[in-house]
Amino acid sequence: MNLNPMTRRQSRCRETRAQMSDYLDGELSGDDSKRLERHTRWCPSCARMLTNLRRTVTGLQALGDIPPDEGDHRREEPGPLS
Ligand SMILES: [Zn+2]
Repeated sequence: MNLNPMTRRQSRCRETRAQMSDYLDGELSGDDSKRLERHTRWCPSCARMLTNLRRTVTGLQALGDIPPDEGDHRREEPGPLS
């Protein structure tokens, strides 16, 4: 089974990254949020970018409350709907 063409994957990445700041601001719609979360579950590069961005946003909101490690929790559970 290989239902994951490169082109689609790359355009999802671009879309996901464009939505990240809205997502972290809570301004993304429910459907878009879910898609973004699902994408970052299987896309390590977007997941890392989201982690970094979230850390930046969180850092702006609550200075000094950021753990020093990468916060790189890797989950092994499969995506719910893939
Ligand atoms: Zn991606």
